[in-house]
Amino acid sequence: MNIKNYINGEFLSPVTNRWIDNYNPSIGEVYGQLPNSDVEDVENAYQAATKAFPGWSNTSIDERSKILSKIAGLLEEKLDFLAEAESKDNGKPFRLAKAIDIPRAAANFQYFANAITQFSSEAHESIGLDAMNYTLRQPIGVVSCISPWNLPLYLFTWKIAPAIAAGNCVVAKPSEITPMTAYLLGEICNEAGLPKGVLNIVHGLGTTTGQAIVEHPHIKAISFTGGTATGAHIARVAAPMFKKLSLELGGKNPNLIFADCDYDNMLKTTVRSSFSNQGQICLCGSRIFVEESIYEKFKTDFVKKVQQLKVGNPFDSETNIGALVSKSHLEKVKSYIAIAADEGGEILAGGEQVVVEGYENGYYLQPTIIEVKDNNCKLNQEEIFGPVVTLMPFKTAVEALALANDVKYGLSATLWTNDLKRTMRISKEIHAGIVWVNTWLLRDLRTPFGGVKASGVGREGGFEALQFFTEAKNVCIKY
Ligand code: NDP
Repeated sequence: MNIKNYINGEFLSPVTNRWIDNYNPSIGEVYGQLPNSDVEDVENAYQAATKAFPGWSNTSIDERSKILSKIAGLLEEKLDFLAEAESKDNGKPFRLAKAIDIPRAAANFQYFANAITQFSSEAHESIGLDAMNYTLRQPIGVVSCISPWNLPLYLFTWKIAPAIAAGNCVVAKPSEITPMTAYLLGEICNEAGLPKGVLNIVHGLGTTTGQAIVEHPHIKAISFTGGTATGAHIARVAAPMFKKLSLELGGKNPNLIFADCDYDNMLKTTVRSSFSNQGQICLCGSRIFVEESIYEKFKTDFVKKVQQLKVGNPFDSETNIGALVSKSHLEKVKSYIAIAADEGGEILAGGEQVVVEGYENGYYLQPTIIEVKDNNCKLNQEEIFGPVVTLMPFKTAVEALALANDVKYGLSATLWTNDLKRTMRISKEIHAGIVWVNTWLLRDLRTPFGGVKASGVGREGGFEALQFFTEAKNVCIKY
């Protein structure tokens, strides 16, 4: 199936008529093509967005909210169809796309349909100076949303929904590796009556299409989720143009397990936090640190549970682990497993590519556990972003915290303990934007979302996102 750009409400081929192959990772074969867009396509998208901006930014909050709600409703109605498309494009289990990815995309629109009706601004009375200040929070204009391949529609809509709710017009680019559901979103937006040009979706390579968006002098804000190196590059390009930036980047998240935790719940959740979506979630707990007194027990139980996970065809209802997103990503993840022995690590489970019967060319890998000796090794310091976790014991809470923080990233952390003082201390001291205690990936869309250190700059979620997508203007009236 051929994907097209969505510009001014129309589905268009790229100006140069150049195309990129789109792979189905579960079979390792091309199943369609997408535009290899260049500067001209981005310019056309920008022009459409600019034309739409005066109308959309002056559309009432109620009307914007209704349209966003309608998009949410249509996403829910088309759940099976969209989950199937996501699974085929990305390799993730259909069950996961149906339970998480698509419902969350709908929830993103519904949440911001509601949030925009409650978004307000402040007034400051300057007592003694006979003046009143009020804040106008105005849409920025044409903004851009650039998203990665791991949670395609989920993350794409997490940006687009607040951007348009706040009255902006958008030039968006999904990852060229997983463009399908973004394309289908265009059809849904038309069906929901989103005015032409409010959302424009340009497909293509990061280094050309993405780069053209970032370099565009009049696209005033960039909301980006992706790798840390790409984020740093975007920041360098955007800085001289003083663009507003929100960067959600990589992670190497610690999972700290104390002996006093609820063991069964911890074990079950740790399997999920390690390997959901083939470990390709920026929030996966990829470094597992376990208190010494339960280390051996945990090791045995964890290995046993992980070895029971079924790697296979994403459309098989028994499958726990689908295909990795691409051949090059599979090779990258394998290259980390290959250095385990050099780094003094021991592979406790997995480590091998899997050949799935009937899907022999798909990109399958066993869920892999590596016991490491030292936190200061590549396996513990670099983001692998696949079904690979490391295991290491610790003796004290102080040591656990030091290990957790001894990394350049700071996205999320998980803590398993029933000790309140320890919970409070570690939550305060740990370098992370999100801390889960006795749970993982429990999300309330009103909460701030983002990382510290090399995991990014800025926060998404709730009113934080609406603040990012608006400019605050102070009006001071002397009376
Ligand atoms: P990339 O950084 O490679 O790509 C992200 C997006 O940026 C893609 O759409 C990509 O396009 C585009 N892009 C690439 N180069 C440029 C450029 N020069 N200018 C503009 N856009 C560009 O990340 P991945 O897609 O590989 O995603 C995995 C990464 O995302 C991991 O590091 C993961 O941790 C992170 N991530 C972070 C999350 C968070 O919330 N903090 C959530 C999810 C993932 P294309 O793919 O077409 O090249």
